Amino acid sequence: MPEPELNLAHLLQRQARLAPECPAIFLGTQGVATHGQWAQRCQRLAAQFQAAGLQPGDRVALFMRNHVRYLEVMFGAWWAGLAVVPINAKLHVREAQWIIDNAQARWTFVTADITSDTGEHLTGSERIVDVDGPEADVLWQGPRLNPTLNPAFGATHPNETPFDTPITERRRDDLAWLFYTSGTTGRPKGVMITHHNLMTMGLAYFTDVDAISPQDCIAYAAPMSHGAGIYAIPHLMAGARHMVPPSGGFDPAELFALGQQLGPLSLFAAPTIVKRLVDHAEQTALSASACGQSFKTVVYGGAPMYAADIQRALRVMGPRFVQIYGQGESPMVGTALSRHHLQDTAHPRHAERLASVGVAQTPVRIRVTDAQGQDLPLGEVGEVLIQGDSVMAGYWRNPEATAHAIQNDWLFTGDMGCLDADGFLTLKDRSKDLIISGGSNIYPREIEEVLLHAPGVAEVAVVGAPDAEWGEVVVAFVVPQAGHTIETAVLDALCLQEIARFKRPKRYEIVTSLPKNNYGKVLKTELRQRLG
Ligand code: AMP
Repeated sequence: MPEPELNLAHLLQRQARLAPECPAIFLGTQGVATHGQWAQRCQRLAAQFQAAGLQPGDRVALFMRNHVRYLEVMFGAWWAGLAVVPINAKLHVREAQWIIDNAQARWTFVTADITSDTGEHLTGSERIVDVDGPEADVLWQGPRLNPTLNPAFGATHPNETPFDTPITERRRDDLAWLFYTSGTTGRPKGVMITHHNLMTMGLAYFTDVDAISPQDCIAYAAPMSHGAGIYAIPHLMAGARHMVPPSGGFDPAELFALGQQLGPLSLFAAPTIVKRLVDHAEQTALSASACGQSFKTVVYGGAPMYAADIQRALRVMGPRFVQIYGQGESPMVGTALSRHHLQDTAHPRHAERLASVGVAQTPVRIRVTDAQGQDLPLGEVGEVLIQGDSVMAGYWRNPEATAHAIQNDWLFTGDMGCLDADGFLTLKDRSKDLIISGGSNIYPREIEEVLLHAPGVAEVAVVGAPDAEWGEVVVAFVVPQAGHTIETAVLDALCLQEIARFKRPKRYEIVTSLPKNNYGKVLKTELRQRLG
């Protein structure tokens, strides 16, 4: 039986038919496209891709900071049957160049600010389009839009006629999103995410994360080249609004204000960003209900959220959080810790649940196994495996890496964790972050959770340092809260009270900040390098 057709561009066409005049894309509070206009622009772009000879399956790279045109290029490329290669805007031009070459992207869309910094120029693609430049205006100069469309969304040229480029059909397992892993070791790998993977992810948002109504508005504060960008899909499914903050990133004051003006926002945020939102709410003495006027739902994930931090977030901002766990290889779909489970304080295992990443999302199954892939008993720590329709088709032109990552249809995530009897998964650490000291396994996160309870501690990262006697010893990097000094004796006493003696850090490094990547993940590799 042939594989069914599927193209995510149909989601946009559907909304453009259902609600053409409905405001869809915003730059801050300023509307820049209705659903009808968005679809028209995508058709226009698709027609230009086709006129330039781009074939279905060809790649188009986006080396862009968050920008309203991100959504238009993404869906325009899909409309023409092309695959999108999102590139982290914080990468060096040379790193982006490597990705463009590896993906053999035929066109690259850029925001000039990120390429002009180093004075280096991208090459390789047939065409490089600055989305703010005059060339883009020509590409975007849409055909005449239905004059009955919402006039607030820009006048149209009188000679423009409605455009009608049909969607190029794709098969469900065709490539939609070629996402390059951050590649902390070696070169990044291209993760092949299909139309079906993203459709699954979009639907799972409704079953496992949140309901969405057309009045809702998603804010793109986290990088659109990552999970935040593909959260456009469930919001488009529901006909909601999409907003790129004018700052192009994360500014708590701006987001609180935009939420007041546009109605409560939903967004994806890494735990460090959640922390900054909570800090802002606390510093400006906002009540939880005032926070509710700015934020409907904050989906957090991508890095560990410590129990103390989520408890504080819930206390300060109220019940508007949902956690997800996933990885580029199964984007945004692994487990979810629901609003209900976060709030269910009466549950006897609430504390354990709060420290977990929740239960398998509806489309996937989760197992925890030993190195041979054998299931481990409940409570034992092993590698987390994921199976289901959100799991990648494989790594781009890298069958060895694919065979290593996917075995018997199960994705080996490289994350370590354990399951409880109710299906809640608690992550320990990435296998590479595990510390082995004197032959014992030590999970850094356990120590981090303890140290975060010490007075005056803002952030902690625990890593292993090479040691002649023990193999590795535990070292804690600690960031004090503003205006606090940290006594390491107090930290040590707390560890003695809470965890086994052999797990205690042998050394403390008090630092002003922790190195993080663009997604807010602490770069433990860098910390380990500092220790030699
Ligand atoms: P990426 O492929 O860049 O999205 O990174 C995925 C990795 O981030 C996962 O394999 C985990 O190690 C980590 N991660 C994602 N979500 C969570 C979460 N909710 N809690 C802890 N770690 C997470």
